[in-house]
Amino acid sequence: MKKALITGVTGQDGAYLSRLLLGEGYRVCGLVRDSTHPDLGNLRALGVQDRVEIVTVNLLDLSNVIAVLSQQGPQEVYHLAAQSSVGLSFQQPIGTMEFNVQSTLNLLEALRIARSAARFYHASSSEMFGRVQALPVTEETALHPVSPYAVSKAAAHWATVNYRESYGLFACCGILFNHESALRGGQFVTKKIIAGALAISRGALERLSLGDLSVRRDWGYAPHYVRAMWLMLQQDKPDDYVIATGRSHSLEDFTRLAFAEVGLDWRERVTSDPRLARPSDISDIYGDPAKARRELGWHYGMEFPELVARLVAEEQALYRGETL
Ligand code: NAP
Repeated sequence: MKKALITGVTGQDGAYLSRLLLGEGYRVCGLVRDSTHPDLGNLRALGVQDRVEIVTVNLLDLSNVIAVLSQQGPQEVYHLAAQSSVGLSFQQPIGTMEFNVQSTLNLLEALRIARSAARFYHASSSEMFGRVQALPVTEETALHPVSPYAVSKAAAHWATVNYRESYGLFACCGILFNHESALRGGQFVTKKIIAGALAISRGALERLSLGDLSVRRDWGYAPHYVRAMWLMLQQDKPDDYVIATGRSHSLEDFTRLAFAEVGLDWRERVTSDPRLARPSDISDIYGDPAKARRELGWHYGMEFPELVARLVAEEQALYRGETL
């Protein structure tokens, strides 16, 4: 039985990846920063909280990381923990940089020192591309990050590539575009829109304020995206892959569809507030997942309206306390 270690197991992707790996017959160990008060809500929402072993680690403490890796002896390590909010990174640039880069270096260095054969996955991000010159983005597109979060992910991405090239680690970067689910944190805009539309439909909220509605993103469905992470670590050779749907839509499109799902006209309920816009932002971005399709056999296959409808239905299920 293979063992996988997941950092950031309490997050959206950590929960979906846990469920996937358990289904594939793995033993899953989830690393948390404080096991006395871990928020296992996402694992609980997927009904897998009792099947994941929870272990505390301080990912900024190399000796602690080395100890946990040697105690657990995993075959696969998925590094998903991060200060993952672009918006928050503008308020906490140093904390974001410190955690996202140092935690990655510590894991890589621990694997190198221990001469571990464990396969390593790093959660890189489409945000790294930032100010792109041409679309769609591929694995070869130059990076020009435009937020502290994106800068931190670019640094951790290149550290991962460097450990692969310099020390021969089996280390892969999944360059994932935005992927959503009902398990997204409340600070993320898709969750805010859907939770807002549902609250308005229940009469619990009057209006919703959003930032720039013209920005376009390539949004996908999280459970399909975590499958790509696992596929990367099952290949003969480590490599980096763009995981995307291949098409972008505007935040206005997303808002319109989400509100229509609950029988509302978004134009009557949504205010665009320039104060919520970011200091610098990407106007449009979408990726080309051809390499992942060709080499991993990863196929997305969900249309945008279906994604939004599913997110709304799952948010309603979560509200009713149902397991997703
Ligand atoms: P998420 O829901 O925000 O989860 C982040 C995880 O990181 C949580 O488990 C959180 O633990 C942990 N974490 C944050 N700061 C930490 C710290 N200082 N010490 C220890 N753990 C810490 O993120 P996600 O959507 O699942 O994304 C997973 C990864 O993919 C992240 O690295 C993210 O940057 C990257 N990514 C996400 C997307 C996307 O669209 N979702 C796209 C590209 C890349 P707590 O519960 O303790 O806070």
